[in-house]
Amino acid sequence: MRENPQPLLEASVIIPGTGTTESMPTPEEILDRTREEGLAELTGFLRIPSISSQPEHADDVRAAADHLADLYTHIGLENAEVIDTAGHPVVYADWLHAPNKPTVLVYGHYDVQPVDPLDLWTSPPFDPVQQNGLLLARGSSDDKGQIAIHWQAIRAWLEATGALPVNLKMIAEGEEEIGSPHFEAFVDSHRILLRADACVVSDSGVAAKGVPAIEYGLRGLVYFELRVETANSDLHSGLYGGIAPNPAQALSEIIAHLKDPNGRVLVPAFYDGVRPLTDEERRQFARVPFDEATFMQTYAVEALHGEPGFTPNERTWGRPSLDVNGIWGGYQGPGNKTIIPAWAAAKISCRLVPDQDPEAVSAALRSYIAKVRPAYARATLREMEGHGGPWITEIDHPLLQAGKRALQRVYGTAPVFIRSGGSIGAVDVINRHLEVPCLLAGFVLPDCRAHAPNESLDLESYEIGRRAVVELWRELGSLDLARQKNPH
Ligand SMILES: [Zn+2]
Repeated sequence: MRENPQPLLEASVIIPGTGTTESMPTPEEILDRTREEGLAELTGFLRIPSISSQPEHADDVRAAADHLADLYTHIGLENAEVIDTAGHPVVYADWLHAPNKPTVLVYGHYDVQPVDPLDLWTSPPFDPVQQNGLLLARGSSDDKGQIAIHWQAIRAWLEATGALPVNLKMIAEGEEEIGSPHFEAFVDSHRILLRADACVVSDSGVAAKGVPAIEYGLRGLVYFELRVETANSDLHSGLYGGIAPNPAQALSEIIAHLKDPNGRVLVPAFYDGVRPLTDEERRQFARVPFDEATFMQTYAVEALHGEPGFTPNERTWGRPSLDVNGIWGGYQGPGNKTIIPAWAAAKISCRLVPDQDPEAVSAALRSYIAKVRPAYARATLREMEGHGGPWITEIDHPLLQAGKRALQRVYGTAPVFIRSGGSIGAVDVINRHLEVPCLLAGFVLPDCRAHAPNESLDLESYEIGRRAVVELWRELGSLDLARQKNPH
């Protein structure tokens, strides 16, 4: 733990007896006043090349963690600490002086993706520059810029009023971009420290410029390797062709049984537990346009393929899917090798939606493959590590409705409630270990080029994001979540 230093600025002078101040600024006024200062602080944070995947940057990752902890202390958060894990550290800080108010855990990550290919950047990735209303730098949107939005909203409250409307526990992870390998162990061993009534995650974006979004559901994932064997050795295709069973053929037949030609999964019970989309969900999904023509042109796709009866957004956000991720077996080298292989294999994954049970889906797939495999083939389905269940918070949950009110007030338009087809490891971990509802709301643009050359932060979106978080704390402070008696 660090010692608690002096707050950055004293709150305004309180007039005795009134509890109010003569010229107490609002947090919004502080935001206006600290715009340049905030951008300079973000720029300094972005200069640290905290690439978590590259061992030569391990010291930079540590430096970014130290930098953030110092900054948290500087703005008036307390107990700032760089907590070691078996990998890169987690930064923690809190402010817990709002009795009878909810305690909110805020998750972000300070690590960034590698920058290559470097020659495609128009400016050095760790030397932030402003251009056409954008701040160009690796991490500017994913996720350092969003961490900055949060710390500036906190600072605005503390500077304006000397307090926050809610209790806050900030955590910033250093391994999000490499799949959060040590985050689960960290959360599991810090359950008391991280105890909260709600969690807020800003690692996503708005639906479009000026149109906020709340993500309320994520798909889960189960991953398998299917291995088919038909002999204990490759066999001569001249001597045995016509009598020897072929594992590549058997594997193909099994795979062909998994889906019908339209793309509907044929595994019995696969769709058991799938929560039907409500009319309201379908209406919300329809607010976010999916441009089929651009998708097809960008990726040279001839036609979309998937479960009939659902729009593209409904299929990727609200329906499960099954895909072959890789397939191999037999001779793959140059020229010919006249064999009948002994085995063939495939990687298969399923994206799952609420309320599918990963175990039940595994069991259903296993027994279906045992049934449809050719009699001459031995098939083994091995479940790979790293699976996670689907996650959802109900749209009408008080936390999400409070987020909606705050965003609507700041943006002037209601946020769209969407889901994501992917998974966020940290959300799954927080959900399972801390059992708190999560609000996923980010402030960056969909085309911010996260993970790609010329990653950028749209400064207008950043500006409105700072206001949105100020408003979010105000709104959550008036919320009667199942409160803990003691936020510590
Ligand atoms: Zn991110």
